[in-house]
Amino acid sequence: MSDAQTPPDDPADGDATDSHDDFDPVQVFPESEDMDLRPGADSCYKCSTCDTSCPVAEVDDEFPGPKFQGPEQWRLKRKGDHDVDESVMKCSNCMRCDGACPSDVPLSQMHNTARAEYVDDHVSKLSVEYWRNRVLANYGRLAKLGSAFPGLTNAVMGNSLVQSINEKVLGISAEREFPTFAEQTFRSWWEKRGGAKVRSDEKRVAYFHGDYANHNTPEVAKSLVRVFEHFGYEVAVPEQRCSGTPMFANGMMDDARRAAKFNVGTFRDLVEDGYDVVCSCTSCSMALRQEYPELFEFEGTAEVAASTYEAVEYLRVFEDLDGALDDADDVDSPDLAYHAPCHARNQGLDGQAVEVVDRLDGVDAHDVGDSCSGISGTYGWKAENYDTSMEIGREMFEHMEDADAEVGLTECPTCAMQMEHGTGYDVRHTLEVIAAALDVDRGTAAGS
Ligand code: SF4
Ligand code: SF4
Repeated sequence: MSDAQTPPDDPADGDATDSHDDFDPVQVFPESEDMDLRPGADSCYKCSTCDTSCPVAEVDDEFPGPKFQGPEQWRLKRKGDHDVDESVMKCSNCMRCDGACPSDVPLSQMHNTARAEYVDDHVSKLSVEYWRNRVLANYGRLAKLGSAFPGLTNAVMGNSLVQSINEKVLGISAEREFPTFAEQTFRSWWEKRGGAKVRSDEKRVAYFHGDYANHNTPEVAKSLVRVFEHFGYEVAVPEQRCSGTPMFANGMMDDARRAAKFNVGTFRDLVEDGYDVVCSCTSCSMALRQEYPELFEFEGTAEVAASTYEAVEYLRVFEDLDGALDDADDVDSPDLAYHAPCHARNQGLDGQAVEVVDRLDGVDAHDVGDSCSGISGTYGWKAENYDTSMEIGREMFEHMEDADAEVGLTECPTCAMQMEHGTGYDVRHTLEVIAAALDVDRGTAAGS
């Protein structure tokens, strides 16, 4: 047997790194085209650290955990004709296991690829599950319709009878409050405003706002624009599609590939012109930085990934954000209970919001700990996952209620939904707090 057929399951059998030297690529998942996960899989030495970090495994005894979803499924597959186990659909794609693994096994990449194969092979394109997941994964299409008639959509989707029908027919939990559509999308505001108010050849950022900030929380997107213009940046808002995060999580790899190709295409041109890419959602920055280069090889993918930042991170790296906030006037704000999204944690950004906001006179931010909110994008919207999602979120809810704060703070829109749902608190985005502190909220002209 070759090395490829006999992985060093036991570290005592040999050094996994050595086996890479005479590495003979194996096509594990044919649908993944040129994807080859062997080097990462063989680095697994079965310590189970990933399993202890998995919020789904913690509350669901039937979920086998990330070690099984990643390296073990891969090994089984390599040894024979083994189908991907259906439990991969229970992985929420929180990516906490990625950060926990001491051996850099590309767990979420394995899960995303395996999930896509499972959906292709085992989920009927005619089934309700497939269409429910496709609708959730392609929220942007639904949101476009919703934004065309926001008042009507909000009334219909907020109706308890409609919610109950949604659960019975589609399996979308009736317990969840459907997100409210804004009267004016961010992109309409941007167009009406006439685009960028600041021009600069040196300081230029391209904003990846994603679907949610465009259709549901345009105030977050406006805050980003105003804060970056305050620091002298020319902001570009190119055409874009969903980052693909909900598509990866639902095994819709073809949809994700199309969206990623479009996004890389538009942002690549701007990066070539000297723009950096900034995101207001930590899952979007995660997708552009990590998931795209792990899963795709479009021209410019690596360049876009290397130029992408979460927005507050960007200001801390390239501007004196701390100094600007130290000089800000007192802020009239309630104290804030901060939840770090799992995808912020993965990018090493989990401590920054509290550090930044705590500089302001008149506001305290309390970190409510390192638990997962439990909603994980579309995961907690599925009726079959609702109870698990709330069980995972219980620790965060309790810590929010124990904290000396009345309002939540986070950078992820679906974590914000779960925080509101579990505690009844209003939730703000860190950029909104910064915009208020720098007094840029009113803009420079009416409507701007
Ligand atoms: S944490 Fe990494 S090395 Fe340990 S079992 Fe999980 S995948 Fe393997
Ligand atoms: S991505 Fe999250 S839910 Fe999925 S296996 Fe890893 S830790 Fe568990």
